[in-house]
Amino acid sequence: MKLNEKDAAQLGLDAQLPRPTTSTVDKQSSKRKTTQIIRLSALFGIILYLSLYSSNLFGAQHGQNEAFITKNDGPLNSYWHGIATKGMKFSLPRPEKHHDHHHHKHPHHPHGHISPKKAEKIFLSVPSNDSAAAASERYTSYPHPAGSGYDLYSALALKNEWEKELGLRVSGANEFVYEAGSAESQSRIRNGADKLGVWVDTYYPILNTPVHASVTLLTDPPIKAKLREDIVDGDPDSQLRDEVPVFHGLSASGDVKAKYVYAGYGRKKDFDLLQEKGVDFNGKIVLTKYGGSFRGLKVKAAQEAGAAGVIVFTDPGDDGEIIEANGYEAYPDGPARQPSSVQRGSVQFLSKYPGDPSTPGEPAYKNATRVESGSQPSIPSLPLSYEDVIPLLKALEGKGIHASELGSDFTGGLEYHGVDYYIGPSDVDLHLVNEMNDRVLPIWNTMAVIPGHITDEVIILGNHRDAWVLGASDPNSGTVSQYEVVRGLGALLKKGWKPLRTIILTSWDAEEYGLVGSVEWAEDFGDWLVDNAVAYLNIDGSASGTNFHASASPSIALALKAAAEEINFSSDPERSVYDTRNDGGNWDEFSAANSGEEQLETSTIAGGSGIGALGSGSDYTPFLQRYGIASSDLGYKGGPKDPVYHYHSIYDSHTWQAKYGDVGFHRHTDAAKVIGLLTLRLADTLILPLNTTQYARDLQYYLEKVQVIANSSSLSLDGSINFEALALSIESVGKASIKLDKEKKELIEKLRKLLPKPKFGHNGPSFVSRIFGKGCDHHKKDVDVEGIKLPIPHLPIPKLPSPHKLKEIKEVLKEIRVVNKKLQHFEYGFISEEGLKDREWYKHKITAPGLWLGYGATTFPSITEAITIDHSSSLAQKEVDDVAQLLNSVAQKLNA
Ligand SMILES: [Zn+2]
Repeated sequence: MKLNEKDAAQLGLDAQLPRPTTSTVDKQSSKRKTTQIIRLSALFGIILYLSLYSSNLFGAQHGQNEAFITKNDGPLNSYWHGIATKGMKFSLPRPEKHHDHHHHKHPHHPHGHISPKKAEKIFLSVPSNDSAAAASERYTSYPHPAGSGYDLYSALALKNEWEKELGLRVSGANEFVYEAGSAESQSRIRNGADKLGVWVDTYYPILNTPVHASVTLLTDPPIKAKLREDIVDGDPDSQLRDEVPVFHGLSASGDVKAKYVYAGYGRKKDFDLLQEKGVDFNGKIVLTKYGGSFRGLKVKAAQEAGAAGVIVFTDPGDDGEIIEANGYEAYPDGPARQPSSVQRGSVQFLSKYPGDPSTPGEPAYKNATRVESGSQPSIPSLPLSYEDVIPLLKALEGKGIHASELGSDFTGGLEYHGVDYYIGPSDVDLHLVNEMNDRVLPIWNTMAVIPGHITDEVIILGNHRDAWVLGASDPNSGTVSQYEVVRGLGALLKKGWKPLRTIILTSWDAEEYGLVGSVEWAEDFGDWLVDNAVAYLNIDGSASGTNFHASASPSIALALKAAAEEINFSSDPERSVYDTRNDGGNWDEFSAANSGEEQLETSTIAGGSGIGALGSGSDYTPFLQRYGIASSDLGYKGGPKDPVYHYHSIYDSHTWQAKYGDVGFHRHTDAAKVIGLLTLRLADTLILPLNTTQYARDLQYYLEKVQVIANSSSLSLDGSINFEALALSIESVGKASIKLDKEKKELIEKLRKLLPKPKFGHNGPSFVSRIFGKGCDHHKKDVDVEGIKLPIPHLPIPKLPSPHKLKEIKEVLKEIRVVNKKLQHFEYGFISEEGLKDREWYKHKITAPGLWLGYGATTFPSITEAITIDHSSSLAQKEVDDVAQLLNSVAQKLNA
C-alpha cells in the first residue's frame, strides 16, 4: 500500500509503509484480512491525528529534529524514523456509524439477574488459550516503545478492542482521545464512575530516545562493541532488532574516554566494599552485571562513587541452570540465552521518585511547569550483551583484585567463555559514547470504566502496554491476560450483569521509562483516588516462566491467595495455580546451593499469608506508596530451571513465548482467571474482602524483622532503640481489627435475620454477596441507601420484605457502608504527609522500594533506613515513635 508521496514527504514519512513482520498478517482468515486492509480514510485519520503531535514526533520545536533528518547511522536512525511512521501501516477498525451522541450501544437487559457466584462461573468460562495466543500475536507483531507512532497505534487499537468486548460502539481513531487535564478527561473519572466508557488520556512527560552510541576498547586495533542484537534463523521477529536500539531510558548523554573497573552487581554495598579495599572509581567507567538491584540504582551508586560512565551487562551466571555450560543450546535453537541479547531499560533513580522526571508530584499536562530533575543520572550509561562484554572483562585479567577473593557475587558465568573475573582497573582506555535526545513526548493511557451500583468504592485493574521492543512477556502477556479479563467482564455485561462497585481498567503507557503513565495519572487524580479507590490490582508481564508469583498489601493477600488456590492450573488440573510457585525451581535455594552460603530471608515470606510485600518496579507504586490504596501484583515468573527469559530484548518475542515461555498460552489464561476472580470478589462482595487482621499480623512480623536488623546493626549505631511504643500500637491495630471483624459478622447475621429465610447454605461473604450482587440499575426494587441504589434481594426470596423490614435492611446497609469505608481507607492510614526522608514523594510508612534495591520492598522503611543507612539510633527512635503514632490513629479510626 502506497501513500500519496507528496503527503508522505510533508509528514516526513516513508511513502512505502512496510510490514514489521511476516508473522501476523499473513495467517489471518479472509474475513480478518479484509479488516486488516488499510483503508485510506482510516489511515489519513490517524495521520491527521499524529500530525497534531508533529512538533514532538517528527521534529524539535524549532525546525526538524537533526537526528531524524541527517543521521544516517542504520539502526540508530531508524528508531524514530521507523517507530514514528510504521505504526500507521495497520488499519484500525472502521468506526461504526454514530447512532446517537452516546458512546454506548449497550442495551439494557432487565432480566439479567446474575448472582456473584454465577457471575464468577460465567466469567471463568471465558478466558481461553486460543484467544490469548491470538492476542499475544496481535500485540507483539510490532515494536511499541512509549511515545512512538506504534505506541499510539497500540493505545487506539486497544481502545477499539475494549469497546467491542464491553459492548460499546467501536469509535474512530480521533474519538475519545483527550488531553490530560482537559474537562473531558477530568470528567470521565470525576463524574464518570457511573458511565460505561473507554477513552485515551494523553500526557506529556520528558522521555529520551537514542541518537548515537558506541563502546570501543582502545586497544590496537580497537575493539568495537556491536551494540546490536543478532537476526537469528528461527525467530523472524528478530528482524525488527533495529527498531529500538540498545540503550538506557532516561540515561544521560556523554562522551567518556577512561580506564574502567568491574564492580560485580554494582549495588551500593558492592561499591562500599570495593572502596574499602582501595578501589578508586573517580573518573572511571564502571562495568556492572545486571541483577541484585534496579539498574538505575547501579548508575546512581557509580555516580556517587565518582564514576564517569557505566556499562551494565548481562551475565549468564544469573541464568540459573539453563546455560550453555550445562549443555543447553542458545536461543532460538535451545532455551539458553542468545549471546547477543541485551537488556534495555530505564536508569531512572526509581527509589527517589518515579514518573515524569520534570513534574514530580504533579500531572505532566502539555503546558505543565517543568522543574530540574532529581531522578535522572548525570553520567552516561549503556547496556551490553555478554558477547560484547567478554573482550572488556578479558582485558582486565590479572589487574587488581581477583574477583573470587570477594565472594561468589563478583564472579560470573563467563568462565565458560574463558573469562577470569578481575576488578581492575584496566590499563587501556574505554571509549563510551551515549548521545540521547531528551524532549517532551506524548504518551497515551487507554482507560475504561465499568460502572457499579456503588461508584465511590472503585476497583482498578491495571497493566502497562508500552514495551521496550516487542514485549511478548513484558508487558504483553499481562496485556493479554487483562484482555481476557475484559472479555470475561464483557460477557457478563452482555448478560445484564452490573457489578456492585465500579471497575476501572487501565492500560498504562511509558511504564518502561519509569512508571510514567500510571504515576502521572495517579498524580492527576490523587485526591479522587484517596476518596474513591478501594484497591489497585496490577498485572505487568503475566508469563515469563513457570513460577506463579504474587505480592500484595497484607489486607488483599488472603483474598488473592484464595483466588489462586481456587483456579486449577490448566495444564495439570490436579493442582492449583498457587501450587505452581516453584515449578521452575526456587532461586533462593539455587543461589544458596551455588554460593554455599545460607541466604538471608527474602521479602517473599510474609507473616503467614505466603504473599510478600510490594517493593517497586511496576505501576502499583503510585497507588500504594503515595496514595495509600491497597494493591497487588501477580504473574508467572522464571525460575532457575526455566528457559532463559530475554528481558527487555528483541528476543522477548511472540516466537520465544510460543516456543519456550508459555507453550500453549495457558499461563496467560490462568493469570487472567486469578486476577479476574479477585477483581470480581472485590467488586461484588457486599462487605469488602479486605483483611485488616492479616495486616496487623504482618505488621507484627515486620516489627520482628526490623528488630533483628537493629540488633545486628547495634555496633554501627550510637545507642539503642526502644520498640515498645511500636509494639503496643501494632497490638491496638490488631485489637481494633478483631473488633471490626466481629462487627462485620454481626451485620451479616442481622441481615440474615431480616431477610426471609430459605436457601442460603453457607455463612460468610458469599452468602451476602449472593443476595446482593445482582440486578441492574433500573430495577424497581432497588433500595436507596444515601443516594446509592442497591439492588435488593429478590431471587432467593419469595416476596418483597415488608416496609418495616425494608427500613431495617436499609439501616443495616448503612452500617455496612460505614464498615466498608473503614476498610477502604485503612491503607491510607499508613500514609504520612511528610513522606520518607530524602524521598518525600514516597509517603507509605509500612512499605517502600528499598532505597538501594528499587525492585525489592523494605518494610518500615523510615525505621529500617535510619538504622542501615543513617546509622542513627536517635533518628530511628524518632521514626519508631512517629510510626507508632500513625498506627495508633489507624487503630482509632477502626474503633470509631
Ligand atoms: Zn513491564
